[in-house]
Amino acid sequence: MSLATEKLDVIRQQVQYHLDRAENEQLSPAQQRQLSDDIKNRLQQENAVLVAHYYTSPLIQALAEETGGCVSDSLEMARFGHDHPAETLVVAGVKFMGETAKILTPEKRVLMPTLEATCSLDLGCPIEDFSAFCDQHADRKVVVYANTSAAVKARADWVVTSSIALDVVEHLADQGEKILWAPDRHLGDYVRRETGADILMWDGACIVHEEFKARGLADLKRVYPDAAVLVHPESPASVIELADRVGSTTQIINAAREMANKQFIVATDQGIFYKLQQVAPDKEFIIAPTAGQGATCHSCANCPWMAMNELESLANVFDRDDNEIFVDSTVAEQAMVPLHRMLDFATELKLSVKGKA
Ligand code: SF4
Repeated sequence: MSLATEKLDVIRQQVQYHLDRAENEQLSPAQQRQLSDDIKNRLQQENAVLVAHYYTSPLIQALAEETGGCVSDSLEMARFGHDHPAETLVVAGVKFMGETAKILTPEKRVLMPTLEATCSLDLGCPIEDFSAFCDQHADRKVVVYANTSAAVKARADWVVTSSIALDVVEHLADQGEKILWAPDRHLGDYVRRETGADILMWDGACIVHEEFKARGLADLKRVYPDAAVLVHPESPASVIELADRVGSTTQIINAAREMANKQFIVATDQGIFYKLQQVAPDKEFIIAPTAGQGATCHSCANCPWMAMNELESLANVFDRDDNEIFVDSTVAEQAMVPLHRMLDFATELKLSVKGKA
């Protein structure tokens, strides 16, 4: 068995464990209300703000909104946490998001419901192997996706999120740069097809998006012929080919709001449905199919690590000593450079779009 297959098997076992656990530990509505109230009080007492990702549970997204926090993609989470005056950031998402918040705002305390919530992209790109890969291709600009460890970011020239990956790579290609891309091969492949850039790829994947199936999606399109298909670019190329719109979580939400269609088939984590239904309450959203005929679920588009952000762990987030994010100061200093490069680029991009409007 190859190392990659072995690693994938361990990841799949973890996935099943967390999905089973989530299913077995349903809270009653009264328990949910009690925990939500406790969390609201503690956030206030601790001068803390809740920053949640679109893929967390609807309960957690609602809490973030009700308490003046934010629900967004990883780029906006980083920006919001950096700009907010709270002394403590409670990050509901996966570990790299907490690390990014800490790197950008080292003076703040950053807590997470659990530090076990990670990401198959981060797990699949260990710094030792990645660093050796970079050394072998020193003539290339290193562009890494936000879904990586602080140490991998520290080794990069650029950090990107899926919302600005195309713009950054286009910008580098215009300057004649060759690119080393990590870790998501599907997103990297999409960026290569769209920009024509010379990209050398690390072999990583998101276990959630990789499971979307083109054949099942084509069948579903026949059932809903008027539905527009919205696809996250971490999905396989065959799925992206069937999309009416390809984009990051925020771009998918914007597309649902702006497009005239009344039905949408969505290929990304199901957590996003909370926001989709909020921004377009008169529209219908259908999850794209994942595993094939033998699968135990119709669509397993549910990140097991995002699902680890539970109300109970959030309720005692201030009372534990195993859930604060720390990043080595040298690593943080190095990682800050490509992160700020991304944020500055995103700001300039927004300004230039506004200027053209
Ligand atoms: Fe990582 Fe995929 Fe989960 Fe996002 S959905 S955190 S990319 S495993």
